[in-house]
Amino acid sequence: MLNIALVIFLQSLITYKDKNSIQYYKDILYLREDLAIIMDGTLTFMGTGTSQGVPMIGCDCEVCKSDDRHDKRLRASALIEYKGLTVLIDAGPDFRYQMLRANVRHLDAILLTHNHKDHTGGLDDIRSFNYLENRAFPIYCEPYVQKTLKMEYSYAFTEEKYPGAPEYILNTIGDNPFSINGVEIIPIRAYHNKLPVLGFRFGKLAYITDASSIPEEEFEKLGGLDILILNTIRYSSHHSHFSVPEAVSVFEKCGAKRLYLTHLSHQLPRHEEFAAMLPKNVYPAFDGLKLSF
Ligand SMILES: [Zn+2]
Ligand SMILES: [Zn+2]
Ligand SMILES: [Zn+2]
Repeated sequence: MLNIALVIFLQSLITYKDKNSIQYYKDILYLREDLAIIMDGTLTFMGTGTSQGVPMIGCDCEVCKSDDRHDKRLRASALIEYKGLTVLIDAGPDFRYQMLRANVRHLDAILLTHNHKDHTGGLDDIRSFNYLENRAFPIYCEPYVQKTLKMEYSYAFTEEKYPGAPEYILNTIGDNPFSINGVEIIPIRAYHNKLPVLGFRFGKLAYITDASSIPEEEFEKLGGLDILILNTIRYSSHHSHFSVPEAVSVFEKCGAKRLYLTHLSHQLPRHEEFAAMLPKNVYPAFDGLKLSF
């Protein structure tokens, strides 16, 4: 690990004649940020699309017809590897394909932000992890989300289950920090119109999706972030999702270094065009993007 840092440092001495230049220090920082090995964690976007995904069935718009792989968005989900812990945030209808696409063979837990189907619809496929790890699978969510899971996956919660039914262990979380395998996760309360949703902070990164407002008192938990991830679906206002200007103003308010936007819909421009329209340090996420923090 130290060797890698040393090599990069030596390379930088060769490349930069003017070591007093701002660019020199910026690039050194950039290289450091790119080195997952010396950071606490990584986040991989498994899906960055809105509830119907992009492209949308039957739509002929420019975004849905785009050939750019950045415009192919599965339902929103993120894989976090942090201090030895591997957790997935949300498991929507694309969960199975997302696990296959990224070759994920182990998860310690799934955290659910809320009970909407585009975030929970893939949980039947937890069966693969039941087999692989030979255990019931831990899910962390709020009591109201558990109620929905017990309805939607009732066959997994009956006394006499058929062999091979998915097996879950439901763990209750709320507004207070909690730990999985000794690693602390800080929940962030937000609202999706009136529906309470949870975002999650891991060290210097926070991931919040399906929010249209964040209560004032929660901003305390959002100080000192390197990376903030927020949902948006379009530029104009929406009853249950941040608009682009609203997401940017939340970012400015909490003072994070970078903002990535997810849960994107075909109502936004194509990825490349959208990226060019956004202010400094604000980026559209795309499926497969990996961030170190
Ligand atoms: Zn959603
Ligand atoms: Zn479309
Ligand atoms: Zn939702």
